[in-house]
Parts: sequence; structure tokens; C-alpha cells
Amino acid sequence: MATYEYRCPRDGVVAARFPIGEAPGWLRCPTCAADAARVFSAPSLRAMPRPLVAALDRAGRSAEAPEVVTRIPGRRGTAARPTHPGHARLPRP
Ligand SMILES: [Zn+2]
Repeated sequence: MATYEYRCPRDGVVAARFPIGEAPGWLRCPTCAADAARVFSAPSLRAMPRPLVAALDRAGRSAEAPEVVTRIPGRRGTAARPTHPGHARLPRP
């Protein structure tokens, strides 16, 4: 058995379980009895490694409400950053 998704025009995504390869293209919505078309979605999203899921979640949150930082993450103290001598010759704005 596998879980398939159908989109009802009124109720949104509806999940239904069928044997693999036997899912119909249309389904009667269990809530409103309207025809719901099958939706093809990415499988096995729950099998992704936790660090990857955490990184994707953080990237999504960052798009909406970026975290505010006052210093470079991972650095401690206020030690001066070593500069390359060639940086002094770069044009200034
Ligand atoms: Zn419906």
C-alpha cells in the first residue's frame, strides 16, 4: 500500500491509500463528494536525513524572517581579522 494525494477543488489535498500501481486518476472526495484529481508529489520526503531537513527548514524560515546577528556566527572575541596586504591597494568607494 502507498499513500496517494488528490486535490479537491473545495477541500484541498486529500490523501488515500491504494496498492502500488493501482491508484485511480480521480477520487471522490470523502468530505464533499466532489471529483478530486490525483496529484503527483515528491515521494519519501520523510526519509531525508535530519540535518538536511533542519537545514531546509531553517532556509525556509530565513526567507520569511531572517535571524538578526550582531557578529559573525562561530567567532568568539573581537580579534582583528587578518587582512591580505593586497587589500590596501584595492580602490575605495
Ligand atoms: Zn472535497
